Amino acid sequence: MQHTATFADVQSVKRLAKQLKQTHPELSHGKRLDVAAAELLGLRNYYELNRRFQAVIDQHLDSPSGSNAVAHCLYCDFRFAADLKEDQREHREIHEKIMEVHEITGYRPGTYVEREILKKDGHTKARSVVPLEDRIEGALMILRGWFDRSYRNAIEVGQWRKHPSFEVYVAMMVPYIEDLLPELAPSLAQRYGRTPGVITHGHTNWPLQ
Ligand SMILES: [Zn+2]
Repeated sequence: MQHTATFADVQSVKRLAKQLKQTHPELSHGKRLDVAAAELLGLRNYYELNRRFQAVIDQHLDSPSGSNAVAHCLYCDFRFAADLKEDQREHREIHEKIMEVHEITGYRPGTYVEREILKKDGHTKARSVVPLEDRIEGALMILRGWFDRSYRNAIEVGQWRKHPSFEVYVAMMVPYIEDLLPELAPSLAQRYGRTPGVITHGHTNWPLQ
């Protein structure tokens, strides 16, 4: 196996293991996973794939040492007690959800810190005495920060495929931008449209279905 283990790798191995039930009914589920990992990825066994995949996930961990230390994943933003099995499982679950979307769409919504920076810098830029185009860019940074939070919520509950694209989301937020940044709202409406009534005025999250 040349490349690093991906979420898609793990899924296809699991899928093949399931199919192998037909042709190899005598094998245990664990053995079928081993066969699938060897066949698809040239690995010794499923354990090897799992070990590699865990390493891909763990590379993003910011783990201070010491007992009761809280680990923070800089990729999926989850904070957890690294020595608790239950927490590790929960982390892997949310991490995999974000990873799956990232692999399929090429997009990963920003973490809390990334979103806050976007919004802070965006607010400054949107209200500065600079050309209109730069101020609009600031407004779009604010909107991107909100969008990422909203999209992330949808990923967590498995509704990301229904979540509006950024462009469609901006149109839904234009009525609120009219209050917040009235001078910039017309340009945004012109470029993205204006879709009132989907997102509650004053809110920034797309309503989950
Ligand atoms: Zn994570």
